[in-house]
Amino acid sequence: MLDNKGRTIDYLRVSLTDRCNLRCIYCMPEEGIGKVCHQDIMRFEQIEKVITACAAIGIKKVRFTGGEPLILKGIDKLIAHTSSMSSIKDISLTTNGILLADMAEDLKKAGLKRVNISLDTLKADKFREITRLGDIGRVMAAIEKCMSLDMVPVKINTVLMKGINDDEIGDFINMTKELPIQIRFIELMPIGEGYRYYDRCSMKVEEILERFPELVQIKDDSKVASVYKLPGAKGSVGLITPISCKFCSDCNRIRLTATGTIKPCLHSQEEINILPYLDDQEKLIEVMKDAVYNKPAEHHLETEKKSHSAKMMYQIGG
Ligand code: SAM
Ligand code: SF4
Repeated sequence: MLDNKGRTIDYLRVSLTDRCNLRCIYCMPEEGIGKVCHQDIMRFEQIEKVITACAAIGIKKVRFTGGEPLILKGIDKLIAHTSSMSSIKDISLTTNGILLADMAEDLKKAGLKRVNISLDTLKADKFREITRLGDIGRVMAAIEKCMSLDMVPVKINTVLMKGINDDEIGDFINMTKELPIQIRFIELMPIGEGYRYYDRCSMKVEEILERFPELVQIKDDSKVASVYKLPGAKGSVGLITPISCKFCSDCNRIRLTATGTIKPCLHSQEEINILPYLDDQEKLIEVMKDAVYNKPAEHHLETEKKSHSAKMMYQIGG
């Protein structure tokens, strides 16, 4: 459906949990998070009701995220159920990849079409420093597994941080020469723990084009990334610029948080609690329509340098 700015909203991101098996420095505090009670996290059957209502108002694409979505048992069943809805054309997943290699085959069978795997460095030691807990070998195995299952292009989300991983930009770009992957460089956002690193580490992804003029822009229907290629490469490079060149006027998404609120905009504090309407599908559809129609026009991160969101990235799912 259209919102009040005439944007077509057809994409739902679902955060399945705020918990995670990693503690990335720009996302989660080292000591972890105060655990939300189990009964406050939406159950899969509740999420299915929301996705059904969303499908009725024109949502065609669903992405599962978190926290880390793969720590939840039964996610394959949720994907299979979503995939059985005829109006949902595309199901994807954002994951840190730690548990993915062993699960990828079942997830693909359930209907998962695409994965985005987060990876901010190619070095084992640095990976452990950034994630505080992770083993890079498991992420690499997941990338290989997804390629072998033909879930291509595998998209790799890399948050750019000056002084931390900007020395590896060339290594990431070179990976696209031989592999059917898309490296997506994302600007660090001043939200949650990211706020603590923003002044020191933020950099504009346009710098990549200055440093690698051999990248050639290609046509792509992504709403958020401008996509480039090295001549003759099997993969591509996406630049995602939420700050330096914001894409609010093209935004097509709404978000469902793990605790049952709809966030029409990632960086707005506005949230609509939909839990009271889950047993009344008609009312739920009405509330969803209202939430979509009144989606905020834009964020103001570039001037205010702080998100207004009351929730952290691990609660919203990025
Ligand atoms: N745990 C999964 C993962 O890491 O892919 C899914 C959830 S995570 C919140 C989704 C994406 O948000 C990841 O690619 C992560 O790098 C990104 N992210 C988290 N905090 C961020 C920040 N402050 N700025 C930019 N991206 C951020
Ligand atoms: Fe976990 Fe993803 Fe946040 Fe890293 S970015 S702490 S993997 S939710």
